[in-house]
Amino acid sequence: MSDDSKNLNTSVLKDHLAKESPFFQDLISGREAVWINPGWQPFSSVRDRLGLGEAEIRDASERLLRFAPLIRTLFPETEDRSGLIESDLKEIPGMKRVLAREGGPDDGSRLFLKCDNDLPIAGSVKARGGIYEVLKHAETLAFDSGLLSGPEDDYRKLASEKARSFFSRHNVQVGSTGNLGLSIGIMSAALGFRAIVHMSSDAKQWKKDLLRAHGVQVIEYDGDYGKAVAEGRKLAAGDPAAYFVDDENSKDLFLGYATAAERLRKQLTGEGILTDETHPLFVYVPCGVGGAPGGLTFGLKHVFGDHVHVFFAEPTMAPAMLAGLSTGLHHDVSVQDLGLSGVTEADGLAVSRPSGFVGKLIAPLVSGEMTVKDERLLEFIKVLFTSEGLFIEPSAAAGFRCVSSFQSGEVQAYLTRHGLTNLTDRAAHVVWATGGRLVPAAVRKKLLS
Ligand SMILES: *Cc1c(COP(=O)(O)O)cnc(C)c1O
Repeated sequence: MSDDSKNLNTSVLKDHLAKESPFFQDLISGREAVWINPGWQPFSSVRDRLGLGEAEIRDASERLLRFAPLIRTLFPETEDRSGLIESDLKEIPGMKRVLAREGGPDDGSRLFLKCDNDLPIAGSVKARGGIYEVLKHAETLAFDSGLLSGPEDDYRKLASEKARSFFSRHNVQVGSTGNLGLSIGIMSAALGFRAIVHMSSDAKQWKKDLLRAHGVQVIEYDGDYGKAVAEGRKLAAGDPAAYFVDDENSKDLFLGYATAAERLRKQLTGEGILTDETHPLFVYVPCGVGGAPGGLTFGLKHVFGDHVHVFFAEPTMAPAMLAGLSTGLHHDVSVQDLGLSGVTEADGLAVSRPSGFVGKLIAPLVSGEMTVKDERLLEFIKVLFTSEGLFIEPSAAAGFRCVSSFQSGEVQAYLTRHGLTNLTDRAAHVVWATGGRLVPAAVRKKLLS
C-alpha cells in the first residue's frame, strides 16, 4: 500500500460499496465493469469553473510550435511533420468487423485508431505531456539565463555546446512505470540535462535498458509505482539543481496532452468526419494516473463540447481513476483499499492511486469508464495485428474494451439519455492507442504469441 494511504478500512468500504450497486460489486470483485458517470455535466455549465482553459491550451500549443525547429534538428524522425510530435489517424475497418461480433458498434459508424503508439521520440502518448514539460522547463531556464532572449528567438540555439553545458548543470527527475520515464529521460538527455528516472523494480527490463542506453540514471525501488514517485519527489526536493516532473499533480503534463485535441479535429476533417449535434464523436482512452486521458479529455471538450463522449479504460486489477471517480474519494482511495492487487501486464496503467488534481477536474467531463482483464488486452493486440497489421503494447489496447461494450445495456442507456440512439450510424469512434513503437522485436513476438 502507498505511503500516503488515508487508512481507509478496506472491509468496511467494500461492504458499503457492494450494497451500493451491481457496478461496485463488479469493480471490487475484479470483474469487467462498465460505469456511466452520474456526475457528467454539460460543458457550458462547467467550463468557467475548471481553473484552466483555452488560453492555457493555446499557450502550450504555441510553445510546441516555437520548439519545433529545435526538435526537428535534434530528432530527424520528426522531419516529415516539421518538428511537431504527432501521429496518424488510421481507419481500422477490419478491427471494427471483429469487434462488432463482440458487442462493438454494428452499424454505419467508422472506427479509427489514433496512433500514438507510433509517436516519434518516446513511442507513446507520453511524448505529448512528458516532452512538453521538459521543453517548458528548458525554456524557463533559457530565458532566465539569457540563452534565449525571448519567445521570438531561434530555439535551435539550445542545441549548441554552450546550451548543453548549461543544461548539464541541472537535472530532471521523474517517477515512472516506464513510458513517462522514457519520454522525460530521452528528451532531457537530448538537451544535455542530467536525467534521473525512479522506477519500481518490476518495471519492464527493456525500458530500463533503453533509458540507460540514453545515458539516463535509473533508480529502482521495491514496491509499487507510488513509492517510486514519492522517493523521487523527496530526493529532488533536497537538490536546488533538480526539477521533478510530478505525474500526480502536474498541470504542464496535462496541458501538453490537451494540445492533441485541435490537431485531431484537423485529422478528422481530413477524413471527412464532421462532429456536431447529429454526428457524435466517441473517444476511448487507456487510463493510468489520469494525466494523459484527463488532458486529452480536457482538450477534446474545448474543441468539441458536448458532441464528444470520452470513455476511459483501466485494468480490472488497477482501476485507480475509476475507484477515485466512482467513490468521489479521488486521491484518497487506492485500488488496494478496494481489495484489488494493482498488478497488471499493462505496465502503463499499473497505478494504484489516481491523480487527485486530474480526477477532480475531469469529474464532470468524462462520460464513463470500463475495466478490462489482462487476457483481453492480449487478445486485442493480437487481433489488431492480424486484422490491420499494427502492433501496440498491452496498455495501449485498453480502449478496445470500451468499443466492445457499445451494445451493453449501460452504454445504450447513456445513448438514450443523450438523444444519440438514432445517430449511431453517423458516429465516429476513436480508440487512442497509447504506446508500442519502442517495444523490442523479441518482446513483441512474445506478446503476440
Ligand atoms: C502512461 C500511459 C497511459 C495512461 O496515462 P496516465 O497519464 O498515466 O493516465 C496509457 N497508455 C500508455 C501506453 C501509457 O504509457
